[in-house]
Amino acid sequence: MDLILKNARLVTAPDAAPVDIGIEGGKIVAIGPMLSGEAEVYDAGGRLACAGLIETHIHLDKSRIIDRCPPPEGRRVNPVTTVAPLKPAMTVEDIYARAETTLKECLVNGATRMRTQVEIDPAMGLRGFAAISALADAYKWAIDIEPCVFPQDGLTNYPGTEELLVEALKAGARVLGAAPRYDSDPTAQVDRIFALAREYDVDLDLHLDVGDSTEHMDVRRVLELTERFKRGGRVVVGHMAKLSLMPPAESAAMARRLADAGIAVTVLPATDLYLMGRDQDHNVRRGVADANLLVAHGVNCSLSTNNVLNPATPYGDCSLIRMANMHANVLQVRHPKELRECFAMLTERSARLLNLTDYGLAVGNPADVVVFDAQTPEQAIAEIRNPLAAFKRGRQTMMRKPPELLRP
Ligand SMILES: [Zn+2]
Repeated sequence: MDLILKNARLVTAPDAAPVDIGIEGGKIVAIGPMLSGEAEVYDAGGRLACAGLIETHIHLDKSRIIDRCPPPEGRRVNPVTTVAPLKPAMTVEDIYARAETTLKECLVNGATRMRTQVEIDPAMGLRGFAAISALADAYKWAIDIEPCVFPQDGLTNYPGTEELLVEALKAGARVLGAAPRYDSDPTAQVDRIFALAREYDVDLDLHLDVGDSTEHMDVRRVLELTERFKRGGRVVVGHMAKLSLMPPAESAAMARRLADAGIAVTVLPATDLYLMGRDQDHNVRRGVADANLLVAHGVNCSLSTNNVLNPATPYGDCSLIRMANMHANVLQVRHPKELRECFAMLTERSARLLNLTDYGLAVGNPADVVVFDAQTPEQAIAEIRNPLAAFKRGRQTMMRKPPELLRP
């Protein structure tokens, strides 16, 4: 073996005794007590280990532009119209440099896999796609990155956008997104995106249903088309903040419809907390969909970062553990088993949502292992215990020492 990770508490059995993980040729070849052999050794000291955190939804291409955007006047904000005028000046080099800084933050916070949303339209051209593709290639030693190309500024009302999306799909993009809220005809955008997904046989990951009322919900059309075209298991909807406006019985009924259709949900707590309730000047609603409730009704969910340092989310450190902690605070999660479920929404559930078939601490899988300064998943989230070490295909990619108090 090349490496033995000793005394790791497996995320799948955190209450059992720690075990050793044997790694050879970039893969996990053995899991069990007291593995021995000629190999390098990393001692996890009985700490929690998982196969790494997964960002299923993060906009690397428009991260770190908050210093280019004036703060909003008044309560109403529109991040899309704030970012749009900046696009012509965004070069491949500029996008790459900002995305790289954000990616490095994700890596030190334990991410080993990622789906990143990439904007494509005539103002942006394919520069974001080029920058992210180059970045994915340069960092494949540390993380697997899958771009999801999508029209942020409208599709049916923005001539030239569809042609560019098609170019990206022909260039190998395997996931297509949408943002119907910013289209003059949201339903027509959803229809067009489903048609393209069928034509190019790609998965869908759509921004959906942020807003102040449940009167119109794009998810209804998405449900209809997912069922009609049998796309269950290949459709993800992100945000779904409007679910938080529904009484529990109604959101539970919607959850069961999503589960039956095979549509997964990514909850994006930071952005929705920042953007929702802008119609209110006091008693402002929280506006974050309850991922635990969705899971309880059979929906597969992930929690993700979405935006970092831009007008949609002016803050962020790319810590998914902190994001799960935020979700737990906002949704008033209390039960340890629900916190454990939140950890799954950063890991194993996220892997299922991305249709990954080789994720997890199991013999035969790539040796992606992340060690947390915690004993259990629920402790990691409750106390925001970030990772101490990460390994990608058996090679250590990151280390962090726990902080120490110095004597006077
Ligand atoms: Zn997004």
